[in-house]
Amino acid sequence: MAEKVVIIGSGPAGWSAAIYAARASLSPLVFEGTFKPEMIPLGQLAYTTEVENYPGFPFGNIRGFVESAVSKDRHWNLPPIPEHSKDPKNRNSLDDIAPHYAVQGIELMELMKQQALNFDTRVVEDDIVDIDLSSRPYKVIPAKGEPIEAHTIIIATGARANYLGLDSEEEYKNKGVSACAVCDGALPTFHAKPLAVVGAGDSAVEEATYLANLKSAVKVYMIVRRDQMRASKIMQERALNHPKIEVIWNTVVDEVLGDGNLVTGLRLKSTQDDSTSELAVGGMFVAIGHTPNTSFLGDKLEMNDKGYIQWSKPFRTNTSVDGVFAAGDVADDYYRQAITSAGTGCMAALDVERWLAENGIE
Ligand code: NDP
Repeated sequence: MAEKVVIIGSGPAGWSAAIYAARASLSPLVFEGTFKPEMIPLGQLAYTTEVENYPGFPFGNIRGFVESAVSKDRHWNLPPIPEHSKDPKNRNSLDDIAPHYAVQGIELMELMKQQALNFDTRVVEDDIVDIDLSSRPYKVIPAKGEPIEAHTIIIATGARANYLGLDSEEEYKNKGVSACAVCDGALPTFHAKPLAVVGAGDSAVEEATYLANLKSAVKVYMIVRRDQMRASKIMQERALNHPKIEVIWNTVVDEVLGDGNLVTGLRLKSTQDDSTSELAVGGMFVAIGHTPNTSFLGDKLEMNDKGYIQWSKPFRTNTSVDGVFAAGDVADDYYRQAITSAGTGCMAALDVERWLAENGIE
């Protein structure tokens, strides 16, 4: 028998869709992905440390709650509490957790997954490699398992931040290298240190301005590979006129430098004469665009000019194919926040519920 709804992806959009679909008695089947780049289990938040901007999770001693909520067989996945989150005075009390402990990305995602599992959600650890939309019910084709028939599909595979591709960049991810200033910029790691933003689009300017406006801001360098920016004029002016932002033109990052624990600087290379120099910074924010995780879809759904799935109706999650819905960053190149993804995940589940009712599928 065909599934009422198959959800592809396991970030905030996927789990929010699952919670709503399960509570509507649709018994959703979630493909959560393996560690292939296109299907990251638990989504991009699995790569994040502290999450300080997800409403409902202020600083606090939440580890006890996380451990009581998440089933014991998933505790192995809970991350250690970062050193800098601990107040030395409290190290021996309350299981070593300081009052200003922020929820970790993986903890937040494990909580969302658990919430979906607490209702009637089934989860498959597999990647979807293709979907067949030529006739109904549709077919979802996993990498390892048998094809699954589905009346509706929610695509929530997200987008991944583009990185420069340096080994040293990989080594210092979450230790001073980030792809989201709004998520990470206010963390203690970056406090009162000169910082660098790589890129020259609207996102790079937005990230640089965000960092430069933090109370603790010292100096923000924008590393721009050409002699001009791609960002809109008004955004460029915002960066160029900001007293704490300095643009370094015609330059790329050749190496991320660090002391083994944290970023301490960058080796820069001129794009004009290959000369190199060193810049002392305590963090590098990469803002060189994102890639939506849509390659398994081929050209079966309408995409926008940047490859993101196009919503076909304003303020609805419908796609160009009837009965196929999209939620989260895979259809949003603008907001790209955990909370907005969760919101559209909820919307997609409600859209599915109405679609099934309208089509007489019980
Ligand atoms: P963009 O594709 O617009 O810009 C990417 C930037 O990264 C370009 O400047 C590009 O340089 C640079 N870049 C790419 N690869 C490298 C590399 N390997 N080394 C160094 N630099 C590199 O992406 P954005 O994320 O900035 O923006 C995405 C979309 O979102 C855009 O449409 C943008 O307008 C929109 N947006 C709008 C905002 C707003 O209106 N407030 C805020 C944020 C985003 P080059 O120019 O040389 O190609």
